Amino acid sequence: MITFVVSKVKIMNLLNFIEQFPDEESCKLKYKEIRDAVGVVCSRCNFKDHYWKGDKWQYECKRCGKRTTLRSGTAMHGSRLSFRYWFIAMHLLTSTKKSFSALELQRQLGHNRYEPVWTMLHKLREVMGRRDGEYELSGVIELDDGFFSTIRSKVEKDELLKRGRGSQKKSKVLVMVESVPVEGKTTKKGKQRKVGHIKMIVIDDLKANTITPIVEGSIEKNTVIDSDNSTSYAKLEELGMEHKPEIIPKDKVNEMLPWVHIAISNAKRLLLDIYHDIEPQYLQSYLNEFCYKYNRRYFGDKLFDRLLIACVSYKNEF
Ligand SMILES: [Zn+2]
Repeated sequence: MITFVVSKVKIMNLLNFIEQFPDEESCKLKYKEIRDAVGVVCSRCNFKDHYWKGDKWQYECKRCGKRTTLRSGTAMHGSRLSFRYWFIAMHLLTSTKKSFSALELQRQLGHNRYEPVWTMLHKLREVMGRRDGEYELSGVIELDDGFFSTIRSKVEKDELLKRGRGSQKKSKVLVMVESVPVEGKTTKKGKQRKVGHIKMIVIDDLKANTITPIVEGSIEKNTVIDSDNSTSYAKLEELGMEHKPEIIPKDKVNEMLPWVHIAISNAKRLLLDIYHDIEPQYLQSYLNEFCYKYNRRYFGDKLFDRLLIACVSYKNEF
């Protein structure tokens, strides 16, 4: 693959993309290549050996004869959009620093309907979220919660406006950041820390009973957690992790939990830039993309293939 050096990380640029995937056929062949490598499992009998019916672009189970299309059981299952549209969306998602709205992509593709484009983007973000969900954070973790602006649903809005209240709402997000102190390095602001992977999870409330199981599912057992001394985190000790809650004065937050606050403010700024009104039920989807790209910020041109593999490996529940 020909690549282009932008700052330190090589990315697949637009010309490389067009060269590699000039038409529908080239995209389908690439998808098949990845699907062959990942393996096809028969949805009827779970058998793994298949014939390839080239004229139909379908697999046929060697045991029961059931046919499986190239899209079936993958993230593309049920979508009528072309492979090339999916490839373009994946290319844009993995090569841009920020993101783009479904409306922007619809315009760029010149597609007449908004809804399938919107569904495709959210499916890709779901794939990203699932991939990151398989990974547990470790080492030293900064933990805090952030409040993201979202909008209320139409019904909720009408009800509240009657009572003279606004349509804005704050959604709560639990943010966890791997933040390992760098040996021997101390700056004016205290100990220097190196940032690793991050996770952002939308939560209903800040109760310890809500937060504790989420932390348990996101972080490895032998981890050190730094946070403030909020009652939300009062039960983390029970998980067998080393929890170091501290009373953090407002003006010391950026010093004591530096990366978690940088992550929160970067995510907020990015979301605000691109999407004007975020409905609370879709906030997680946008955060999935933010975290996935952040966690793979050094992947460069490999990111496209990684997302493609994640799409093919995605087991659609149907
Ligand atoms: Zn079968």
